[in-house]
Amino acid sequence: MIRYICDCCKRELDPNTDVRYVVKIEAAAALDPQNVQPEESDRDYLDEIQQYLEHLHQMDNSELSEEVYREFRFDLCSECYKRFIQNPIGRESAKAMHFSKN
Ligand SMILES: [Zn+2]
Repeated sequence: MIRYICDCCKRELDPNTDVRYVVKIEAAAALDPQNVQPEESDRDYLDEIQQYLEHLHQMDNSELSEEVYREFRFDLCSECYKRFIQNPIGRESAKAMHFSKN
């Protein structure tokens, strides 16, 4: 039998009573040539992207994956999930911090 542990509070999740939430975070470097130095409209962006990709291919594989792409997967209990969706990127939000007051 597979047992799940909340990755946030480390509580064991009982499959009969607890709802398990899976949070997947995908972070990737955005190649968005439209927003790069718009005054140089005659630049060959495709060529630059090609060069960038070639540069990436020369890098060490683990270095490459950390630099341009990361994927995370978490199992959360319902309480931690509710807290997570209040503040998914961990920014300091007064609203989320004072949520439990009242
Ligand atoms: Zn939890």
